Amino acid sequence: MNDASIRSTGTVTRDSESVRAKKPVYWKIVVALVIIALIGISAYALAITPTATILTPFFAAGFVACAGFGWFWMGVDAIPGKRKRSRGLLHGWFIVGVVLFVGIILTYVPVVAPLGYALFPAFVLSLAGKLAWTYGYKSRILYCQRCGTYRWFHPMNGNWYCSKHGHKWYDAESATVTMQSKEE
Ligand SMILES: [Zn+2]
Repeated sequence: MNDASIRSTGTVTRDSESVRAKKPVYWKIVVALVIIALIGISAYALAITPTATILTPFFAAGFVACAGFGWFWMGVDAIPGKRKRSRGLLHGWFIVGVVLFVGIILTYVPVVAPLGYALFPAFVLSLAGKLAWTYGYKSRILYCQRCGTYRWFHPMNGNWYCSKHGHKWYDAESATVTMQSKEE
C-alpha cells in the first residue's frame, strides 16, 4: 500500500492488507433502472386501458388482489445456509401464467372484464414495489469481512447476512459502516 492508494480510496482499515474499494453504489442504480422499467410497463398498460374500465370496482378489486399476489409471489431472497429462496407452485412462473391467462379470459366476460384488465399492470407494478422495498429499503450493500468485498446484506432475525455466502455481519464493524453511509 502506498500513499497514493490511501489518498485515492480515503478509507484505511487497521488490517494493513485491506484498503476497501469504493462501495458499488451502481448496484442500486441497476435495481432502480429495473424498477423504472417495470413502472413504465405498468403505466403503459394502464394508459392503453380505457378510463371507463379503470373506474370500476372490478378493476380496483382485481388490481389490489393481483398486486398482493405479486408481492407474495416475489417471496424472499436466499441467504446461503440460513434460508432458502421462496419456492413452490405459488412462487413459480407457472402460477403467473395461470393468473395472467385467467385475466385474459376474464376480459371477454361481460361486467367482470375490468378485473381481467387489472391483473397485468397490477402484477408488474407490485414487482417494482417489492424490488424497491427489498433492495431500496430492507437490504443494504455492506462490506463483508469474510468475503473481502461488498455484498448485498439481507436482514433476518435482527442480523444481516451476506447474500453470497450467508456470512453474518458483525456489530464490531458498525461504526465504520455508519460513517461510510453518512458520507453518501
Ligand atoms: Zn460474505
